[in-house]
Amino acid sequence: MSERETPKPAIDGAVPPPEIFHLHPEADARLVIHGDSASDVPKEFLVSSAVLSVASPYFRALFGPNFKEGIETRRGDCPTIVMGDDDLDGMETILSLLHFRTLKRYDTLTPEALAAIALLSDKYDCAKALRPWVSHWFRAVRGTTDPEKLGFLLVAAYFLRIPSQFLALSARAVRHASISLASIWAKHDIISLLPHEIRDALMGQVSQTLDKMHEELQLVEASLQLENRGSRTGCRLCQNCGRRLPPAAKKCSSCLNSSGLQVSYCTCQTRVAEYFAVLRRCNLWPSVRPFKECTISELANRFARAEDDRLHRCNAGRDCALRKALERLSERVDKIVSDVAGVSLDSGGREELEEVQPSGGPGGPNAQGSDEPQG
Ligand SMILES: [Zn+2]
Ligand SMILES: [Zn+2]
Repeated sequence: MSERETPKPAIDGAVPPPEIFHLHPEADARLVIHGDSASDVPKEFLVSSAVLSVASPYFRALFGPNFKEGIETRRGDCPTIVMGDDDLDGMETILSLLHFRTLKRYDTLTPEALAAIALLSDKYDCAKALRPWVSHWFRAVRGTTDPEKLGFLLVAAYFLRIPSQFLALSARAVRHASISLASIWAKHDIISLLPHEIRDALMGQVSQTLDKMHEELQLVEASLQLENRGSRTGCRLCQNCGRRLPPAAKKCSSCLNSSGLQVSYCTCQTRVAEYFAVLRRCNLWPSVRPFKECTISELANRFARAEDDRLHRCNAGRDCALRKALERLSERVDKIVSDVAGVSLDSGGREELEEVQPSGGPGGPNAQGSDEPQG
């Protein structure tokens, strides 16, 4: 008995024969799944009703004494049960893993595939049985920063009912989001399955975080104006064209003026002007566009670059008010980003499945059933 039969090519116009999967040597029922697109080749799974009944209350009821399918299975008729138009690959993965048919390709799933599996395991009530695999799949995608992929992972965590994973992923989604997150997600039907209030809460955290960062940027100007100590810079200033020149310059390299080279000072006014020049060099000023287009993490990187900007030098060294202000600004922005809370499902009434401790049970090579939020 071959484990998997390759479908024969369909004659034009005819319904293609299903791809057949023998999942159990003593299979007692056939599940047929047609797929959710017209071009899908249906898949037929020879399954064990006992295995599926242990894994899922849905199948326990279906194969129970109260349904035609259950009665026929118990009679030994091996009934053919047409399931519905489900995601074919997702169903193959779920039914295979529940029967301990572990193939390399089930080891890592794309966020989109993981979301599809989550929806199916919600529909067929088998999230608990898949739990060790789920932990393994989430671990493999923990470095994801793409907002669309994070949307799919949130759908997965939501429908698999893992609040701890959801909380960590939602904080991550906020950090890697721009103000246009809602329109990016709206393009995907699956992501739109996340409840409105959850999506609204996430968008609320995105705009609040951006507002706080922008406020910090603006507060620096006022703080610089409070500090009126001045110190010499290492430069000379051309009185003619305003160019800054090395300390030993005898002549302006730009306008060739040689008479009006002055010692330049770091003062309250120059620091404010320099501050906006630093922001400009790091693409943070004018601020309207970056705050509209960039993700929060990209903006935080730009603030870190502003802190590292060393074009301004003066005799105050590390005590220069500008330098201190840029350090403080970057620190505050980092704190704002790390304080992003994410969205908690606990109040939303989705009860977390209790921890499964696999001991050599189903699971990928490293499956440990851990739900550690993988920030
Ligand atoms: Zn000059
Ligand atoms: Zn200075």
